[in-house]
Amino acid sequence: APPAVWHSALTPARRRRLWRRVAEGREPVVVGARSALFLPLAGLGLVILDEEHDPSFKQDEGVCYDARPMARVRARLEGCPLLLVSATPSVESAYRAGAVPGFTPPRERWHHLLLPDRHGGATLPEIQLVDLRRERPPPASWLSPPLREALGACLEAGEQALLFLNRRGYAPLTLCRACGHRLRCPNCSAWLVTHRLKHRLQCHHCGWSRPEPEHCPHCGTVEALVASGPGVERIAEEVRHLLPDARLRIVTSDTVRTAEQAAGLVRAVTAGEVDILVGTQILAKGHHFPALTLVGVVDADLGLSGGDLRAAERSFQLLYQVAGRAGRAQRSGRVLIQTHLPDHPVMQALARGDRHGFLESELAEREASGMPPFGRLAALVLSGRDAEQVRREARRLARTAPRLEGLTVLGPAPAPLALLRGRYRERFLLKAAPEVDLPACLRQWLAGARLPGSVRLRVDVDPQSFL
Ligand SMILES: [Zn+2]
Ligand SMILES: [Zn+2]
Repeated sequence: APPAVWHSALTPARRRRLWRRVAEGREPVVVGARSALFLPLAGLGLVILDEEHDPSFKQDEGVCYDARPMARVRARLEGCPLLLVSATPSVESAYRAGAVPGFTPPRERWHHLLLPDRHGGATLPEIQLVDLRRERPPPASWLSPPLREALGACLEAGEQALLFLNRRGYAPLTLCRACGHRLRCPNCSAWLVTHRLKHRLQCHHCGWSRPEPEHCPHCGTVEALVASGPGVERIAEEVRHLLPDARLRIVTSDTVRTAEQAAGLVRAVTAGEVDILVGTQILAKGHHFPALTLVGVVDADLGLSGGDLRAAERSFQLLYQVAGRAGRAQRSGRVLIQTHLPDHPVMQALARGDRHGFLESELAEREASGMPPFGRLAALVLSGRDAEQVRREARRLARTAPRLEGLTVLGPAPAPLALLRGRYRERFLLKAAPEVDLPACLRQWLAGARLPGSVRLRVDVDPQSFL
């Protein structure tokens, strides 16, 4: 029997029907998104969590929960095994499974199962770092001479290439040459992203958009607005200049929106109707294209900035997966990674294909700073439409913050996204040593908090996002 499929896009009627069938024990296998964990499956015998490292297992909207610990709870209640699966396991899971040499796992240790061979028996591609400080792309372009050469050779050989840049649209920033004004979202502290295909400027945080203006909204100068930096659309433009005969596809969540479109893309690439794919992380996993032998990472440093606890880990996982797109079948692949930071541990581990080395250095760093899995974090965000009121309430809350050995309370300070969807945001970050009962501290602290109705408080224990 084919498995039942459960996700949020089902119609209410189909959802009701499936829920009933599941409760009646008539669906032996369910494939589903996060919320499938709450289905009334009778006699559950196994939970498999695929791509366990994926940050989207954490739900940040509405009820805030992480499907990974939730799956552990469900499996424990049912007395059944839970299998976490990944080619690039999260640092925390690898640690708990005792899979990192040199680190003793916690007492409640997980089992570590290993698949020794790569799917299809293919060998890992050759990964090469391109130092952008030496190999400079021509002015106003982003592909370095070695990558340009490799692209040409790849097409010459009748093979396919993938250029990866994890940034939708044409340019991440538009500014005025005359007055220096930068176009930003009216609701968020974020720049507007130029989307040339749609002729619009769009905020990637709240979705607000406007047509591309002809004159600067600040000083009124005509034709003074310039796009700054690349998105995938701009990389595609560069490739068109470079290789005018190449058949090109831009692949992002803007261009591939439905299952049919995704299937159409797979068909076209498999049939050899596409020479070069230019895309974001939606290309990082999924289908194997046998003729795809070259992967070019346009800007490998993109995910490393921003001060996120898991920035290095996520960059490694994403780039490792993207690299794996090259040469998965019989032909061996080649990966060129453009970076300004060739000595960074992430880049070094990628170049050596050394997953363990990366996990080791990352865990050592986390241990030294008491970060997860060697400690626990919680983020508190206060938000409201009146900036001054939010600041005042945050300062008031700070006065009753818990003072405890092993607990550090940072903030309040403006959150990295200080304005989001029209609400001003102040943030506390709590860091707790393993012996501290962080949830209990939070409960005690917040039980005494009296916030006005116009100020919202969001508590996120074990946060995945630090915006
Ligand atoms: Zn201007
Ligand atoms: Zn916005």
